[in-house]
Amino acid sequence: MKSGNPLLLLIEDDPQFQMLLNTTLQSQGFYVLAVGTGQAGLIAVRNQQPSLLILDLGLPDMDGQEVISRLRKWSEIPIIVLSARDQETDITLALDHGADDYLTKPFSPAVLISRIKALLRRVAKLPGGALEVFQVGELKVELTRRRVFVSIKEISLTPIEFNLLSELVRHAGFVVTHRQLLEKVWGASHVEHSHYLRIYMAQLRHKLESDPARPRYLLTEAGVGYRLNEAEN
Ligand code: CA
Repeated sequence: MKSGNPLLLLIEDDPQFQMLLNTTLQSQGFYVLAVGTGQAGLIAVRNQQPSLLILDLGLPDMDGQEVISRLRKWSEIPIIVLSARDQETDITLALDHGADDYLTKPFSPAVLISRIKALLRRVAKLPGGALEVFQVGELKVELTRRRVFVSIKEISLTPIEFNLLSELVRHAGFVVTHRQLLEKVWGASHVEHSHYLRIYMAQLRHKLESDPARPRYLLTEAGVGYRLNEAEN
């Protein structure tokens, strides 16, 4: 392996799963540091400064949620959460605590790898200034000029529709929770009003998707939030 390859920290207490992930990640050229407890993980983040954390939510010594909350007081390390319990509330809570993405076990190694790479790309891009133009398939969004195109046709959006879309663009490829969207677009006092989101997402899909019932761009993460596709499938 070349030096300079990213070091990934894996906090996972299941030895078999740990070994499997270790092998998968190393085969992609990542260095991997694997620990089995939240406490060891917190120490490793401080001492080894890994580029990214893959965190199992069910740990023997503390809840994964607590690991995230503690980390977010002093670290901006990108976090991908692994949840065996496909309970949407766990995932949503983890994302609201500051995790960046999630996967529900069992998942395909290829998906994990692509999520890791996307997250590392995004972090690398961050200091380089704000994103101006986002494009996927036929959809093009000009953030500062507040213009949206499908193919060459300019689409007229209401201010709220545009703000909602731009929030998804800023996290393109990543899930954004209902709460995060409501807070950003409507404000902190509206975080319970998820029906707003349903209405406005339906409008956006109607304007931007060729088949709103089977969206290519504005994807639903059931019970959790929405994800703007960053690459066409
Ligand atoms: Ca576990």
